[in-house]
Amino acid sequence: MNNASLQQRKDNAFARGQGTLTHAYIEKARNAELWDVEGKRYIDLGSGIAVVNTGHNHPKVQAAVQAQLEKFSHTCVMVTPYESAVELAEKLNDAAPGETPKKTVFVTTGAEAVENCVKIARAHTGRSGVIAFQGGFHGRTNLTMGLTGKIAPYKAGFGPFPGEIYHAPYPNEYHGVSTEDSLAALNMLFTCDIEPGRVAAIIIEPVQGEGGFYPAPPAFLQALRKLCDQHGILLIADEIQTGFARTGKMFASEYAGIEPDLMTMAKGIAGGFPIAAVVGKAEVMDSPLPGGLGGTYGGSPIGCAAALAVLDVIKEEQLCERALHVGDRIVERLRSLQTRYPQTIGNIRNLGAMIAMELVRDGDVNQPNAELTKALVGEAAKQGLILLSCGIRGNVIRFLPALTITDALISESMDLLEQTFDALM
Ligand code: PMP
Repeated sequence: MNNASLQQRKDNAFARGQGTLTHAYIEKARNAELWDVEGKRYIDLGSGIAVVNTGHNHPKVQAAVQAQLEKFSHTCVMVTPYESAVELAEKLNDAAPGETPKKTVFVTTGAEAVENCVKIARAHTGRSGVIAFQGGFHGRTNLTMGLTGKIAPYKAGFGPFPGEIYHAPYPNEYHGVSTEDSLAALNMLFTCDIEPGRVAAIIIEPVQGEGGFYPAPPAFLQALRKLCDQHGILLIADEIQTGFARTGKMFASEYAGIEPDLMTMAKGIAGGFPIAAVVGKAEVMDSPLPGGLGGTYGGSPIGCAAALAVLDVIKEEQLCERALHVGDRIVERLRSLQTRYPQTIGNIRNLGAMIAMELVRDGDVNQPNAELTKALVGEAAKQGLILLSCGIRGNVIRFLPALTITDALISESMDLLEQTFDALM
């Protein structure tokens, strides 16, 4: 069995829509390292797309899951519940930013969490409109695809899209969109497209993820909070990629000191086990009727056991502090690479361990170098380094290491990145 033959079988068996970034078929994973079926070792700077913040197979998470498997694996929390789900909801309610009492609903995927935020916001406000941001990513289901602000590949050929969704420009300093520009555009939406009294919610990623790793200025998030309060609109923070210590805080909204009305949680919540949640102000969360929310697997016992262990590990191993350290180390190395390639590495930015390098031509922000980005991802994988790309222009390398990655592995991964970069230039 080798990677090439597995890729051949995959190409024959999978719809091409579910693409793969590399042809490395993984057999074993530990912390920030992977080994494929040919015994080749990789340093993983993608963490399964920001999922294993606590590293692959963290011993505590593994032990918690194994212990739960000995007891039971599924009963459905809506039929015969169990304590771990209650405990997890209590802990998530406490962890969410702000002092207002919170409640939780469990689902299975990130997209489902986003969908439920919209349902809850509509039920609470009796309004239908939702405003999202250009370049945003909220999922691939019908409603979340409508919220997602990027056509290829997420929306191409999949229309018509659900109604009453509007997009505003996301503030983006590097691309010349200021906080004021975005706020002015929102006001134009209210003037030209939908009156604020019909808007149920505004949904925003505090750091735009798939769209290119652009952090929203805290002043913008604070202004959004104010705008929402002024018009009775609910503010939804999509923290699916930014959550669980990734940015150096438990949730990125904390940097702006805002309290969202509703938040999505997924990915890093459970170290690789599929569980997701909406956490929000209790009064808002209780708007839908009993039975109006949920799902067969929402809050699965395995997911709850893993998530409780992840929360312990984040605290015990001080992963918020560690995320800042990891971010600093990687950014330091990227900046030194940038001094050698100033015309190509247009911008380096990070919030904790959510780190990005934007590649351009001739130092020009308006000439995205998507070809080099793709080549770098492909070549790095051959050299044993898993990198992810992102960005609406396809020209951003994003770094999402496990927060438990060792300093030695960070150094080795940056050496590999430099070598790969040199070879391609
Ligand atoms: N929102 C954000 C901000 C995301 O990053 C993602 C996944 N990349 C999603 C929603 C969708 O999550 P899932 O793939 O688990 O449905």
